[in-house]
Amino acid sequence: YATLSAVVKSQESTFDGKEAALLVDELRINFNTGRPKSYEWRISQLQNIAKMIDEKEKCITEALYQDLSKPELEAFLAELSNTKSSCMLAIKELKNWMAPETVKTSVTTFPSSAQIVSEPLGVVLIISAWNFPFLLSVEPVIGAISAGNAVVLKPSEIAPATSSLLAKLFSEYLDETAIRVVQGGVPETTALLDQKWDKIFFTGGARVGRIVMAAAAKHLTPVVLELGGKCPALVDSDVNLQVAARRIITGKWACNNGQACIGVDYVITTKDFAPKLIDALKTELKTFFGENPLKSKDLSRIVNSFHFKRLESMMKENGVANKIVHGGQTMEDKLKISPTILVDVPEGSSMMQEEIFGPLLPVITVSKIEDGFQVIQSRPKPLAAYLFTDNKELQNQFVQNVSAGGMSINETVLHVTLKDLPFGGVGESGIGAYHGKFSYETFSHKKGVLYRSFDGDSDLRYPPYTPEKKRV
Ligand code: NAD
Repeated sequence: YATLSAVVKSQESTFDGKEAALLVDELRINFNTGRPKSYEWRISQLQNIAKMIDEKEKCITEALYQDLSKPELEAFLAELSNTKSSCMLAIKELKNWMAPETVKTSVTTFPSSAQIVSEPLGVVLIISAWNFPFLLSVEPVIGAISAGNAVVLKPSEIAPATSSLLAKLFSEYLDETAIRVVQGGVPETTALLDQKWDKIFFTGGARVGRIVMAAAAKHLTPVVLELGGKCPALVDSDVNLQVAARRIITGKWACNNGQACIGVDYVITTKDFAPKLIDALKTELKTFFGENPLKSKDLSRIVNSFHFKRLESMMKENGVANKIVHGGQTMEDKLKISPTILVDVPEGSSMMQEEIFGPLLPVITVSKIEDGFQVIQSRPKPLAAYLFTDNKELQNQFVQNVSAGGMSINETVLHVTLKDLPFGGVGESGIGAYHGKFSYETFSHKKGVLYRSFDGDSDLRYPPYTPEKKRV
């Protein structure tokens, strides 16, 4: 294999267009040897990822704590165990996924057979976000490896402990001739984006998503954009109040303290029911995080002071501050903001116009629950939408009429854990999907192949095109 001496391993290193080009060239040469394509290579790398998760659980958990004060159990469930189960599924199913699929042929090709054959795309780039920095990096890498690609991972510089750990662990556990980590922020990502890739898989916000898509267009490179948005939870009055409140809290504050792409961004309920729901939320919040949630070990902190200030100013905006009905406390030196509930904040406020991505929960009230559909449909399509009701007709209407990347009914967030469901956005919340077999397919090309023999040749389709041939 070709080797490259200047591989970027630390955030201090400079990584420019020249090095990026060398890196892609090297990986392409190594990909072209055919080694990453083999079943044995794919399995060995997947097994090494599983081994890495088992052996390095403690340091991964510590890095996540350093970056986000992520509670240990949250880190284990949402990042480590989730990623490990994806890896184990890929190991178990890889042979089936790789098997060509035989399809029907037609009278035009008779006698023949036909198959859909999966092939790797080549050298792919994965750019990930900071909020689940391990999961969002390793999960797509599992897909890229399963499909037999060479891969460069660019983790987020905003979670530096996890980013540098990933660089270290990948070089320790995985085949460096085909799997690489490049650390860094905008300059390094820009240098990478200038190169020709066979696919770019991006997780992040819509603003950068547009930059990624524009860079990919220059090379006609296909993209997956895993973006975000404002995920609504519509709550009817017929719910089991305690269970609904616990699940909303879990989908908001027990999910990286609101810093989650499929976390509940805002709640919609009826004017009459709102006080009951808010009381239930307050009660359960106290049970979960105690009297002083700023001191709770079970709440992640805000990732950095930029985002702390962004959230604080969202909360202090004119016409918003007086809508707080619960929480609102902050601790700047520890980057903590308590779970905060607001009612009917102005539609024009940043809180209702931007993805909140933090522990602030606005509750919008409507006269009747069906009006909630209009509130959701008047906004860009979200990555996830939630409905709480026992009313089967309402559930059906919601599933049929609300467009979103994915949904949970009477639950929040958990649809993401099902490996047989595709995970991805629609409209402004993204392009493409992954998880389980969908990850394999995302990083594969499905090649249609027709097999014929020399038998059964007919001159019907060959010139000269006589009128008799048309009649047959
Ligand atoms: P971001 O878009 O700011 O950054 C994502 C990645 O892009 C990072 O690796 C960063 O280094 C890189 N980047 C930043 N600016 C760039 C530029 N100008 N040019 C090139 N690259 C650049 O997103 P974020 O702050 O890391 O994450 C938060 C966003 O991601 C939210 O919108 C959230 O909803 C979304 N998100 C989506 C998912 C999903 O699975 N769909 C998961 C997590 C987060």
